Amino acid sequence: MHNHFLRVEQRYYRLYGKYAGRYRLQPHLTKLLKRTKKHWAWIPRDTLDAVIIRLDTTYQRFFKGLGGLPKSKRKHRYRSAKFQSGYKLEKGRVRLSFKAWHEFSKSLKFNKHFFSFHQHRDGIGHVRYIQILRDAVGTYWLHILTDDKSSEPYSATGENVGIDFGLDTYLTLSNGEKIQSPQYLKQSLKALRSLHKSLARKVQGSNNWYRCVRQLARLYRHIANQRKDFHWKLATDLCKRFDTLVTETLSLEGMKRLWGRKVSDLAFGQLVEILRFKCFKHNKSFRQVGQWTTTSKPCSQCSYKNKNLSLNDRQWICPECGSHHDRDINAAINILRGGLDPHVEPM
Ligand SMILES: [Zn+2]
Repeated sequence: MHNHFLRVEQRYYRLYGKYAGRYRLQPHLTKLLKRTKKHWAWIPRDTLDAVIIRLDTTYQRFFKGLGGLPKSKRKHRYRSAKFQSGYKLEKGRVRLSFKAWHEFSKSLKFNKHFFSFHQHRDGIGHVRYIQILRDAVGTYWLHILTDDKSSEPYSATGENVGIDFGLDTYLTLSNGEKIQSPQYLKQSLKALRSLHKSLARKVQGSNNWYRCVRQLARLYRHIANQRKDFHWKLATDLCKRFDTLVTETLSLEGMKRLWGRKVSDLAFGQLVEILRFKCFKHNKSFRQVGQWTTTSKPCSQCSYKNKNLSLNDRQWICPECGSHHDRDINAAINILRGGLDPHVEPM
């Protein structure tokens, strides 16, 4: 269905040179349900609408220059469906209770009205909608979204911190603390290489080949999960200890400077997003200093600008005031100072 509407958008654009938008697509969907796509009608309407809305969001992001054009989705890839109605949550299982589902499952001799799931934690608050997803490994996930407002924000500590991202040291805090990244990708590199090799030996499309693809997807998922877990724990810790967190804005140049293959393993972008979310949730302030702010060259004691500082200088002594600097800590202090500057808009 995603693909169908994507093609409608593309055709519309070819014919009229503009974007059709969700308010043209939704009446179009109504027509389809009556005519050619009757088999979609078993799905609740808001679930179908969610597909159009999601497509629309991707387009809007693209127009703002924030993302790429939507792509068509292949079978067996990541799939999801959102339900605002037509389901019933019970302990350990979800029941799809709308009438059309019963008819649909009967026609497939499937006849299953509920799905069991493992609940990872107790939900709090009122359920807004549920989402059923299938990932690249083929595992089904059930996401339950609630309007949980009960969690207490972390208390204020009166401490602020500047955070410098780095290649050698993952995070350097302005208080001198250094946090290393457990490079999960690197840890699994051997296993990944051997899987890729054995995949190359197999006949594409064969059963063994598919088994290998799934194994690879599972390993990648495992690495991503480890990393995400680390990021959440790190963000929680920082959020608990500090009131204002300041980081650099990640620019393309900055990324090139910092990242090689380690790019995806460090995933600063993900960490920044999680920090932003955590700070918002717990009434802490999250700021980013602009990319034009030089953070490593000025001396944090007397603001003398060390123009001769090269990337290899890990330590330096300020010729003006004689203070001894660790490159990363000095940068983190400058980042914090830049973030506390009242001219910088909080983000
Ligand atoms: Zn100095």
